[in-house]
Amino acid sequence: QTAPKPRGRQFFANPGPTNIPDSVLLACAHQTVDFNDSNFIEVYDACVAGLKRVLKTEQTVFLYTGSGHAAWEASLVNLLSTGDTVLILESGHFSISWGKMAQDLGIEVQSVAADWRRGVDMAAVRAALAADTARTIKAVCVVHNETATGMMIPVPEVRAALDAAGHPALLLADTISSLGSLDFRMDEWGVDAAVGGSQKGLMLPTGMSFTGVSAKALEAHKSSKLPKHYFHWTNMLQRPLKSFLGTVPVSFFYGLQESLRLIEQEEGLENVFARHSRLARAVRAAVQHWSGNNGPQLFCLNPGRYSDSVTAVLMPEGLNADALRQVALKRFNLSLGGGLGPLGGKVFRIGHLGDLNEPMILGTLATVELAMQVAGVPHTPGGIAAAIASLAAA
Ligand code: PLP
Repeated sequence: QTAPKPRGRQFFANPGPTNIPDSVLLACAHQTVDFNDSNFIEVYDACVAGLKRVLKTEQTVFLYTGSGHAAWEASLVNLLSTGDTVLILESGHFSISWGKMAQDLGIEVQSVAADWRRGVDMAAVRAALAADTARTIKAVCVVHNETATGMMIPVPEVRAALDAAGHPALLLADTISSLGSLDFRMDEWGVDAAVGGSQKGLMLPTGMSFTGVSAKALEAHKSSKLPKHYFHWTNMLQRPLKSFLGTVPVSFFYGLQESLRLIEQEEGLENVFARHSRLARAVRAAVQHWSGNNGPQLFCLNPGRYSDSVTAVLMPEGLNADALRQVALKRFNLSLGGGLGPLGGKVFRIGHLGDLNEPMILGTLATVELAMQVAGVPHTPGGIAAAIASLAAA
């Protein structure tokens, strides 16, 4: 006999894709319209203007049908040429993956290696830039919020390192799990290409991504020689919408219009950040409580870099995080994120971004604690009380 299907809602505590608000789902269910019609162009223009406000930029945004990887690739092929060097600042799996993509595209990759529990050391970044007297590094790639390790890397410090060295490299920032959840300021922080995706803080389905592009980057684009076609920004600028080489995924824009309304009008962007911070602190309070009795602990060891959109939790030595995740999923219908790359089986991740409130986070934490009890994972019981205390005090 097969196991009965679980009843009730699945608690989705993955760090992306994330829960989609009902009103966004309904907005996405829009009938097909002509994407060259003025009615749609009005919606499209409003969405691009809203995206720019969330990115905190007044510069150019290009959009693609494709997940975050598409925007990663677009940023590389539009700015670089074969043999150019990029400097990858290590923070975990996604920083490494962006570098691997660059390598596959024929770009030389130099890395500032880091302890993944602390993230890249800014002194090492400054040293790497200062040592590059021949200015071979053409771009520095930083993941603002490393979803694999639950770590926020301070982009302004990277900008400051570039400025201190008087280094002309472009600054590329991945905002895939930070945009619409953590404060990000493209223009103020001097970011030249900001890569974002639809399925996390923007609370949309997966499948659309974009790049905010500075004037300096647009200039660099003109001399970039890597092959490109669908992602070619110059070709896009010649299209009526100044983006999208092919068919425009219209339904995303009705969804985006609604998610921007929720973020900007119903809640307010600064309140969105405050909510993420409040919920994140509750998650960390629970994990820190559990960590007694050789329990699981926060993977990130740098409190100044704790991520407010995802918490990676390191399992006690010898215990498999995926076994715990299976108990949470199969018995209690709670979906948690798994460890990525070398952290596979060693960490699980609690996503706390997007359309989320206190009852959802408390339900998630209580269920993680329940799963730990059932799976025999040592911990100090009562993490949920620590989370409640944190939320009550917030
Ligand atoms: N960068 C970060 C920080 C991510 O979290 C992810 C996905 O989770 C990606 C890049 C890759 O994006 P996608 O899975 O949408 O292609």
